Amino acid sequence: MIGSCRRMKSPSRIPKTRRPLALALGSLLAAGCSPEEEDFPLPDVVWEGTSVRVRMEDPSIEVCGGSFEGLDRHVELVREALLLEGDGVVEYSIGDEDFVDAGCDGSPLGCTKATSGNVFTSLPLHQHEIVHAVRALDPELEYRSSAFEEGLATLFGSDDLDNDIRPLEVMDILTASHVGGREEYFRAGHAMAILRDRHGAAAFRRFDVSSASMDEDQAFIEAFGESKEQFAAAAEGEPVCEQSQWWVPLLECEGEPIVADPATDDLVLRGDLSCAAEDVRGPRGGWMWTFRHFRLDRSTSTIDYQINMPEDAMLEIVGCYGGCPGRFAYIGGRYDVGSILNGLPTLEPGEYFLRMSRPTTEGAGDFEVVLQ
Ligand SMILES: [Zn+2]
Repeated sequence: MIGSCRRMKSPSRIPKTRRPLALALGSLLAAGCSPEEEDFPLPDVVWEGTSVRVRMEDPSIEVCGGSFEGLDRHVELVREALLLEGDGVVEYSIGDEDFVDAGCDGSPLGCTKATSGNVFTSLPLHQHEIVHAVRALDPELEYRSSAFEEGLATLFGSDDLDNDIRPLEVMDILTASHVGGREEYFRAGHAMAILRDRHGAAAFRRFDVSSASMDEDQAFIEAFGESKEQFAAAAEGEPVCEQSQWWVPLLECEGEPIVADPATDDLVLRGDLSCAAEDVRGPRGGWMWTFRHFRLDRSTSTIDYQINMPEDAMLEIVGCYGGCPGRFAYIGGRYDVGSILNGLPTLEPGEYFLRMSRPTTEGAGDFEVVLQ
């Protein structure tokens, strides 16, 4: 069994200029923890959803209003997306660095126990670990390769890697006994994105099942109809992109999208980006965020839009579907979005999500984006 974990570098950066494909929510460092089971005591329950039981070692840790609902929903969405079995509740324990360090056998910022799926983390919404947890809770999933485990957690976790692009070296990552570190997460996640595009979620399920009873290389052929070498050769012929173009935004693009008001033709996305608001998530690396899923039925104008947002906020608009290299992704601050150089370009018809993020400071967080 492979333990899996991830940890965060605490200082977060505000991008100085447009970083079209990257996010400002803090960057991650890998942690090479391999936590074995499992008598570490769990703290008291502070919140219970359908699929997650949240526990906090220190109830005074800051949590934004929508984080736990986001966790709960993410569990269900990952199960659906990966066709997983099992309906066990994820035990999700939040604490400070010392607490997580103890729960994770030396990794201070987060891990998932390989057998129980218990999560120990310093983050109120740690989607990467949720992917590990629901896979651990699948009773039929007996074997887990490190490349699949970390790759899928990166693909369905969140887009929190930095915006460097690296050669995938697919064969090397698929045969690694332990995938760890930001660079390897990128390579494994991108490789899983290409594998999913080629074969769909059902093939991953076949691999989960067949790898329990046969050699991993053989199970790969059974599940995907090609060898690892064949897949690696094909994948290395594909374009390589930043994570924003290949990760799967399950939460962000869920449900019915907001559409333009038929009377005015304006598409209005508004909210209050304050930590207490019930649709605000985080914090993570000192940032909080909220998002809106919307659909455009015609192209937007680059002239006729209005954007009001806090001075310290970042706005991102990212396509829900499509992948590398065509998926739309934009990021900008209040003074970027309307500028000629770094402004928001025309958006073609399709589904997108808007994410607004800012440091978890006090003060009014009202925002309104009107697309025409
Ligand atoms: Zn992981």
